[in-house]
Order: sequence, then structure tokens, then C-alpha cells
Amino acid sequence: MKDKDCIFCKIAAGEIPSATLYEDDDFRVILDLGPASKGHALIIPKEHYRNLYDIDDEVAAKAIVLAKKMVNKMKDVLGCDGYNIVQNNEETAGQTVFHFHMHMIPRYKGDNVGLGWHTGELTDEVKNEILEKMK
Ligand code: 5GP
Ligand code: ZN
Repeated sequence: MKDKDCIFCKIAAGEIPSATLYEDDDFRVILDLGPASKGHALIIPKEHYRNLYDIDDEVAAKAIVLAKKMVNKMKDVLGCDGYNIVQNNEETAGQTVFHFHMHMIPRYKGDNVGLGWHTGELTDEVKNEILEKMK
């Protein structure tokens, strides 16, 4: 399925030009227009899924295998020191384009890419609450 108002549907279909690093029947991999670091790229399925909540299982599986292939090549091309794979779901979690995509963010020693969080503490109360609800 495609969404006629979705920018990533148009980019994936080649209707809007993009700096394409890789393409196959299921995906297009492009450079992000607002990179967090040099080489920041996006894996975009050609079919429209809003995010991880509704993506087809087979497409999701193929996406992570493609990420493995891409970062293995790009780490050599870019000479980076590490990689973050980031995938945002819904506005609260930072999703701004509502067509599933995976960020591949190269990391360089001493870069100031602001990924991370302040660590809290897992209390017994919260742990037990979640474990109980997950049963
Ligand atoms: P999100 O915040 O939804 O996880 O990520 C959306 C990403 O798409 C952002 O990093 C943003 O820079 C990128 N982006 C948005 N519009 C375009 C576009 O038209 N072309 C490209 N190449 N990247 C885009
Ligand atoms: Zn779309």
C-alpha cells in the first residue's frame, strides 16, 4: 500500500529525487537531509507502514538484515568508529515522518551526537507491576 500524501512513499518510489545509496524491490536507502553525523542514512520500505506497530513481519525482518549489510559496508567507506540504529515510533518518541524508517547513524570518536538518556533505577514495585501485566 502507498499513501498519496506521504513524502517517504514518494521518495521510496523515486518520484522525489534522493541521494540513494541502495535500492531493491522492497527498500530504498537514502542519505538523511538533516544528518546527525556524516553518513547518516535512512532505510525506507517501499510499502507504506506508519511505524513498527503495524509493519509487515517479513519487511521488518528484511529491514534489520539490510541494516547489517549497509553498516558493514558504510563503516569501511566512512571510517567511522561505531553505529547507532535508531527507529522512532510516534511523536512522543521523536517520529516526525509517519512512514516506517530506520536511522543508521555513524559515530565518530569525540562527536557530539546527542543520543542517550539519564539512567534511572528499576524498583521492585515497577518491575513486579510490569512482569505481572505482561503475563
Ligand atoms: P524521524 O524523526 O521521523 O525518526 O526521522 C525523520 C528523518 O527524515 C529526519 O532525520 C529528517 O532529517 C529526515 N527527512 C525528512 N524529510 C526528508 C526528505 O525529504 N529527504 C531526506 N533525505 N530526509 C528527510
Ligand atoms: Zn508512506
